Amino acid sequence: MTSNDDLGKRRTGRVRHDVVVVGAGPAGSATALTLSRAGVDVHLVDRAELPRWKVCGGCLGPAALELLGELGLMADLIGAGAVPIPVMELRAGSRRARLRLPGSLSISRYRLDALLAGAVAKAGGEVSFGVRVEGVTPVDDGMEVRIREDGVVGRLHARVVVDATGLGGLHLPGERSTEEVASGSRVGLGAVFPSAAYHMCPSGELQMTVGRDGYVGIVRTEDGLLDVAAAVDRDLLARMGPGGAVSELLASTGGPRSGGNRLPDGEPSFGWRGTPALTRRSIRTAEGAVFRVGDAAGYVEPFTGEGMGWALAGGVALAPFVRQAVAGPSDRAAAGWTQAYRRIVERRQRMCRLLAHGLRRPAVVRAVVGALGVAPVLARPLMDATGRDSRVPLPTLAAP
Ligand SMILES: Cc1cc2nc3c(=O)[nH]c(=O)nc-3n(C[C@H](O)[C@H](O)[C@H](O)COP(=O)(O)OP(=O)(O)OC[C@H]3O[C@@H](n4cnc5c(N)ncnc54)[C@H](O)[C@@H]3O)c2cc1C
Repeated sequence: MTSNDDLGKRRTGRVRHDVVVVGAGPAGSATALTLSRAGVDVHLVDRAELPRWKVCGGCLGPAALELLGELGLMADLIGAGAVPIPVMELRAGSRRARLRLPGSLSISRYRLDALLAGAVAKAGGEVSFGVRVEGVTPVDDGMEVRIREDGVVGRLHARVVVDATGLGGLHLPGERSTEEVASGSRVGLGAVFPSAAYHMCPSGELQMTVGRDGYVGIVRTEDGLLDVAAAVDRDLLARMGPGGAVSELLASTGGPRSGGNRLPDGEPSFGWRGTPALTRRSIRTAEGAVFRVGDAAGYVEPFTGEGMGWALAGGVALAPFVRQAVAGPSDRAAAGWTQAYRRIVERRQRMCRLLAHGLRRPAVVRAVVGALGVAPVLARPLMDATGRDSRVPLPTLAAP
């Protein structure tokens, strides 16, 4: 997607765009796609090379799917082989509950993110992988974006920068810390295992195991591989390492070690990776001509699997504010986005924060899973509250 001429221009700082979006995850791609389709000049950059994998359960819930449908990407998603997940098996101690999952699909992150970036390119946006943003500095007519590509430093110029870099976010000038991290926040862990090594998680089933020190989700993605994603206490990780910590959680369900309560044998196809602390909020959602979105703006623990839905919803909702900032002074657009973000995303995250607290009480979790095992219908209000209500109407942006 990048020519030698483009590379040369970037190295000498001659490239100017209305908008540089940093991070080609669901949030950055949703913003870049919405803007590109409205005719805005966008450059989407990501430090990773494709295929890029990240720690994620890979489950798209109803809200995420509805947005992807409205963006016209459902056919691509199905074409990429996304797997329907009608069932979640929830385990805590010796208790089990089989629950119906309303409209969910699983897909590997390397395929989903490539699909989203492809849609941006098709809509006329410029897309570059292997470009790491090292810093942004305000200049007279916008922002200078310092990049490193193939080990060589370069510069882009943008009227507006979107920080969609995921957990952690970009450091802005004068900012000592980008985020407030919740005390005791868990960290994420993930790996992908070859399917041949593990016959215990059938296609179409999400297996969630909740233990005292965290929880693990296992699902089979479109390529038949097993995606293992967990949120664990830092103490457990320090004591046992990633594989040991996840094995410990799976083993806490007891029973013979053949019913999904152990990790697959053999080496992972994508080895263990971790994340920084999960529950956090960006101190500033927008600063000058830089707008934050997705995990870079704030995140709570992933039990309900809504992170990509929030990222897509935020990405789509941000586009009109970016457009406003491209057209004139960014202050009003920044204030507008800060308010809109609270309304659209933080409100939805509140319920998941409550749930994350509840998950730290093992006796309560076992009692709830026991009750759901007897009456699965009780799960419905919870699923509605955490996932169903996340729809964001697509903004209408007139072509410039
Ligand atoms: C254990 C776990 C399980 C999860 N399970 C699910 C699930 O099942 N369903 C769900 O919906 N969500 C899930 N999530 C949450 C989901 O993964 C995130 O919420 C989602 O990926 C956020 O999207 P994003 O676009 O904000 O950031 P990301 O997807 O993290 O994308 C950020 C991008 O920015 C790039 N980047 C970072 N820094 C730079 C830089 N300096 N320069 C250039 N590029 C940069 C990165 O390479 C990356 O591609 C889970 C999370 C965890 C930790």
